[in-house]
Amino acid sequence: MQSATATALTPSPPPGTATDAGERASAETRLEWLRWPRGVPVCPHCGSRHTYRMVCPRSGGVRFKCARCRKPFSARRGTVLERSNVDTATWLRVLDLFLAGNERGLPARIERQCGVSYKTAWSMVQRLRAAPDDPLVTALRHHHTPAALATSAHSLQQRTPS
Ligand SMILES: [Zn+2]
Repeated sequence: MQSATATALTPSPPPGTATDAGERASAETRLEWLRWPRGVPVCPHCGSRHTYRMVCPRSGGVRFKCARCRKPFSARRGTVLERSNVDTATWLRVLDLFLAGNERGLPARIERQCGVSYKTAWSMVQRLRAAPDDPLVTALRHHHTPAALATSAHSLQQRTPS
């Protein structure tokens, strides 16, 4: 039987995909720090702090699994990033632009600076406007610093690989 999967092995990345693996990894870490106090994941199903962190070697994506109720979850759950195709690094750049306060022409600026289409940029802004109490937006407002800097000092102190 003829295999038809040869061309499907190298799909073009979806819009807004960060191509640098290092940027992807640090964005996931930043997301966890913003999402949970001191970066300690909390299971959204049962509230347990006993969780496993799993990194997909192929995509660099991070998933968690609860040690108590055994259910999987991600740091995106319960935030504006939930069920979005845009990667975490791009979302954090967009959040910085959104929180900078100048809403004029924001989708066009996001399109230029974050490498997503105007349509995607527009729908990201709509999502952010519709969720003023989003935990990530709230955490970033609280820090008063860009997402890129918000937690790097803590990360270096407390997340040193052992
Ligand atoms: Zn649980």
